[in-house]
Amino acid sequence: MDVIVAGNREELGKAREAAGPGRYALVPTMGALHEGHRSLIRLAREQADQVVVSIFVNPLQFGPHEDFSRYPRTFEADLGVCAEEGVRVVFAPAVADMYLPDRQIAVSAGAMGSVVEGAFRPGHFDGVLTVVLKLFNLVQPDVAVFGQKDAQQLALVRRMVADLNLPIAIVGAPTVREADGLALSSRNRYLSPADRVTALNLSKALRAGAVAGAQAPQREPERIKDAARAVLETAARFDPPLLLDYLALVDPATFTEVTEDHRGEAILAVAAKVGTTRLIDNVVLTLG
Ligand code: AMP
Repeated sequence: MDVIVAGNREELGKAREAAGPGRYALVPTMGALHEGHRSLIRLAREQADQVVVSIFVNPLQFGPHEDFSRYPRTFEADLGVCAEEGVRVVFAPAVADMYLPDRQIAVSAGAMGSVVEGAFRPGHFDGVLTVVLKLFNLVQPDVAVFGQKDAQQLALVRRMVADLNLPIAIVGAPTVREADGLALSSRNRYLSPADRVTALNLSKALRAGAVAGAQAPQREPERIKDAARAVLETAARFDPPLLLDYLALVDPATFTEVTEDHRGEAILAVAAKVGTTRLIDNVVLTLG
């Protein structure tokens, strides 16, 4: 079956009519689709009868000096991916279809949106949650799938659904990686071969942290972070260097730093710049 492309609420309504009844899953994306997005779509298909993929590079979630204008846009190829994966509807609005020129109201991500990644990207998660809420209202899915790759985003979406009583099930999907460990990202296409060698140290550092975390009885947060930091410090001397924004070991639900007495899951998260590209990655560890 062909993919139906919708650009606004009216076309979405018609697309939903054409697609037919059943349980709907939404996979929100910014396009430049890769294997990570494909895995989300496959998970969505297991969860629902119809899958809607949204493709929207959301200006609200980019800072003034970030890569909004140069963010990769590969719409035709994305449609091909969606067709291959059995997506029924692609929702691809223009910025003017999404935001009124005199818009006033937005979602606040609260304190949880201004730590870790939020501390380096002020307003980013307000922009993310605002567009996600709008997409939920427009598409009205029963379930929505988000990647663990953006762990803080996933946690904040879950928080928004709980705090605002949204009738949508949120499903998290594991991070898809290249064979050598590099987490797939639309931004990887910015990386030169030399950048990529340096960038590999993000996932390498997380693995070192995970190994330290698995070696009982040495599960203290500082030991885990020290093991990861050693890799990152070596990569800081590469050409181009890895320029670290943060390395954090946090509670998956609140994104506050875990302490010595933390038990259960924790997320080891890293963000760094390599060349002109900013990359993030994380792994889930079990402590205690
Ligand atoms: P983006 O297009 O980068 O905004 O991502 C859209 C969705 O795909 C988000 O829920 C991301 O967390 C998810 N995603 C991005 N990269 C990956 C990956 N390597 N593995 C799994 N999910 C991913």
